[in-house]
Amino acid sequence: MNIAIIGSGLTGSLAAISLAKAGCRVDLYERLSDQELINRDRTYAITHSSRNILEKIGLWPYIVEDLVAFQYLNVIDYELKNKFHFLINDLGISEQKYSAIGWIAEHKNMMLSILEFISNFDNINKIPTSIIPNTNNYDLIVVADGSNSNTKKKLKTPSYKFNYDQICITAKVLLRGVKSNEAFEILHSEGPFAVLPLGGDLFQIICSQSIAKATYNMSLSKTLFLDYISTILPHGIEPDTMIDDPKSYPIRFLLNYSFFSGKYIYLGETAHTIHPVGGQGLNLCWRDVDSLASLISIPLLKNNILFIPIIYSISRFLDVLSISILTDSLVRYSRSNINVFFYPRALIFFILKKSVILRRFLLNIMTNGF
Ligand SMILES: Cc1cc2nc3c(=O)[nH]c(=O)nc-3n(C[C@H](O)[C@H](O)[C@H](O)COP(=O)(O)OP(=O)(O)OC[C@H]3O[C@@H](n4cnc5c(N)ncnc54)[C@H](O)[C@@H]3O)c2cc1C
Repeated sequence: MNIAIIGSGLTGSLAAISLAKAGCRVDLYERLSDQELINRDRTYAITHSSRNILEKIGLWPYIVEDLVAFQYLNVIDYELKNKFHFLINDLGISEQKYSAIGWIAEHKNMMLSILEFISNFDNINKIPTSIIPNTNNYDLIVVADGSNSNTKKKLKTPSYKFNYDQICITAKVLLRGVKSNEAFEILHSEGPFAVLPLGGDLFQIICSQSIAKATYNMSLSKTLFLDYISTILPHGIEPDTMIDDPKSYPIRFLLNYSFFSGKYIYLGETAHTIHPVGGQGLNLCWRDVDSLASLISIPLLKNNILFIPIIYSISRFLDVLSISILTDSLVRYSRSNINVFFYPRALIFFILKKSVILRRFLLNIMTNGF
């Protein structure tokens, strides 16, 4: 089977490996150089669903050495002044042996390992261009050119989208008073924010806040920005030093009405873009890749290629829709008016804190999707 992949970000690159492993001949189109692909300053939360996929294609051993595992995920509701934790015991039995609720990955290391891995495949041909390939040469075209996909615009595939009235700020900070194996999801009226371990005392702060507030905070000097960080960190945790300049980017929500158009199949951020704070984005993208690779490996479908796009689209619907809604709900929950929603919010938090079953259920969804 001849497949073109448009876009060699983390979705397109992983798709190239998975489809090459499934016996396809892959042309991987990318407009950026490898160095530009590597030089992105992003940090991802990796869940067990991604670990599973990476293990399946043999990439896990090359990636894991650069990952930072965390054993505690603390959820704190500032407005309720309450907290609970997800622990290793809340994972499924098969996952507990990895001694990690999840892992934190820095983009540079992961992209480098993936591009090196790709170079081992004779059936992956990298084509440095932004010209959309001639469809007649391919059985399927995988579109993974990101949330501003030009391919999707040309094909006029509709999607539901809106911009959050929020900006995401990320910064690497040395912290005191926190263990190197714990992560935090903090529900704050300005918007949720996350504290992710990067090894030793180094942590990534990812906070979302109103455009006005974020614009102001981005104009602060490093010292004043650290002072601001100290006001939003949990009690007992102090910021020490900023390692880099804070970065900011607008946050959007995007969900395609369909994940295919003829023989074009939409994967990753081209099909869905969600708020970054739940740490679900990349994992959802990689589950797209896994679904497509599994379908292409089914002998019956190999001879009936035309069915693959529609079956793929149906198979991804529930997972993508529910994770998108759950992540969006987390943002709305965090920003909901505490006066009006105090009792429902307190009830949800109380149940999660007390009920092991519910915590396990929620962690399982966050870890494996639907
Ligand atoms: C500014 C920014 C910061 C982010 N930070 C975080 C973060 O901190 N944590 C997190 O979990 N997620 C983050 N995300 C989301 C995360 O990067 C994505 O979920 C993940 O990278 C998977 O994206 P993708 O491969 O589907 O798309 P992308 O990473 O957007 O990759 C698309 C690729 O397609 C290429 N391309 C586009 N058009 C063409 C064309 N016509 N021909 C050939 N190639 C083309 C692009 O050059 C690009 O390499 C961020 C996203 C953005 C935009």
